[in-house]
Amino acid sequence: MSELDLKKYLVRENDNINLKNIDANEYNTFNGTKEKAIKKLNDINIKLEKLHQIYYSGKKHKILIIFQGMDASGKDGAIRNIFQSVNPTGVYVAHFGSPSKLELSHDFLWRVHNKVPADGELVIFNRSHYEDILIVRVQNLKPQSVWQKRFKHIIDFERLLYDEGTHIFKFFLHISKDEQRQRLQNRIDNPDKHWKIEANDFKDRELWDEYIEAYNDVLNKTSFDWAPWYIIPSNKKWYRDLIISNILVDEFTKLKMEYPKPINSYLGKVIV
Ligand code: ADP
Repeated sequence: MSELDLKKYLVRENDNINLKNIDANEYNTFNGTKEKAIKKLNDINIKLEKLHQIYYSGKKHKILIIFQGMDASGKDGAIRNIFQSVNPTGVYVAHFGSPSKLELSHDFLWRVHNKVPADGELVIFNRSHYEDILIVRVQNLKPQSVWQKRFKHIIDFERLLYDEGTHIFKFFLHISKDEQRQRLQNRIDNPDKHWKIEANDFKDRELWDEYIEAYNDVLNKTSFDWAPWYIIPSNKKWYRDLIISNILVDEFTKLKMEYPKPINSYLGKVIV
């Protein structure tokens, strides 16, 4: 088990959190320097790789990990850093951008259900069905009478996945508005990062407070012990990665996974 205070970041059902009161710059639970944290992250990634190997060999569980956060909150970077040691076989990242015409002509969960993990698969969602009660709400893409009902649909959908054997972990990468300003500016100033900029990023930034309100609602209404949200202080990328990796290692360890039983007729066999 990790010595970090990981429970601190878990959203419990009646917490009534408000992101405005949560420090995105915090790194208190780690007692050491950034260099020490990066070394620790390498060690913990190797543990994650071992656990994943056992998980993949057993094909008994399904794992879904969801990443949400404001623009430039570091979803791509976190996924890259945390899973860098894991065998890519059996791991799949699904990114949910603006829906296509075909996707929009279906119900909002159609494109999502198609990507959830099968036995032995670990699927990472970079954005998710939560966009359908975030951007859709904040940018008024559908009336409230439509998006409001989606809370229940999402809870029922995740419960269905859970009841059918999926372990779900959800991470909200929390950055401050000023940190976002610096990261977006850095993308503008660095031509190699222009590909990351979307015109919508600037529009979304103007709606920061509305997004915070929508996220508060999501985090307060859709965190359960069977599909918990964690709010990860993410101004410091190394801290973000360290905390998430540790949470995943702790949670995967709790699954008490084992390699499949050896086949008796192979034991002691000598290959000639
Ligand atoms: P990212 O910002 O994730 O790196 P993009 O620059 O392609 O990737 O942005 C994806 C955009 O798609 C985001 O603005 C996001 O809010 C939007 N999006 C995702 N899902 C939906 C949805 N269901 N409806 C409308 N917009 C969505």
